Amino acid sequence: MAERILVIEDEERIAQFLKRGLIYEGYRVDVAYDGQVGLDTARDQPPDLVILDWMLPGLDGLEVCRRLRAASDVPILMLTAKDEVPDRVMGLDAGADDYLIKPFDFDELLARIRALFRRAAPSSKPEILRFADLTLDTGTHRAQRGEIFIDLTAKEYELLELFLRNPRRVLTRELIFDRVWGYDFGGESNIIEVYVRYLRQKTEEHGPRLIHTVRGVGYVLREDE
Ligand code: CA
Repeated sequence: MAERILVIEDEERIAQFLKRGLIYEGYRVDVAYDGQVGLDTARDQPPDLVILDWMLPGLDGLEVCRRLRAASDVPILMLTAKDEVPDRVMGLDAGADDYLIKPFDFDELLARIRALFRRAAPSSKPEILRFADLTLDTGTHRAQRGEIFIDLTAKEYELLELFLRNPRRVLTRELIFDRVWGYDFGGESNIIEVYVRYLRQKTEEHGPRLIHTVRGVGYVLREDE
């Protein structure tokens, strides 16, 4: 069955353009013209992915993103206008998985959607990755520190999985971008710092630091010294 995409966008021209194009690509598409309707639609017809405009009347995209994220780990791709770019990390803070700046190229949008679906797909053979007292179940996507369960968002999971598959190896920012986000941010983004901060907050609550900064290079998963 085709994946269901929910488009939450108040500009009818853009919403209809997205709907037509995505249907043509074989997706099932629902459109909501404001945030509340979008949330209601997501509840009644759970989507496989959400395309969410930042500037919406009433509930804005950021708030919609927070509420969607509180209810599920559906991949969320945010659309932002060019002059809102400095705020984009706020979207990621709110739980968005990716964002695209308007005006965007439709092929670029499709590539981002495919990447999000690829990453959301359950891995074929679940395994338990371990390092020190930290474990990650690739089947359930749940992490554990000792006996304590840690809830992760989709992006946090991918980042932690990358670290756990490469213990004690310094991972450069370029490699992390490539593996976790699947494309180049142009080197000016602090998105990795933001996500490492989240992961540290969640994992260090219950034990010593495991994700260490290698200044000017990247990060490494290793024991605290
Ligand atoms: Ca808008």
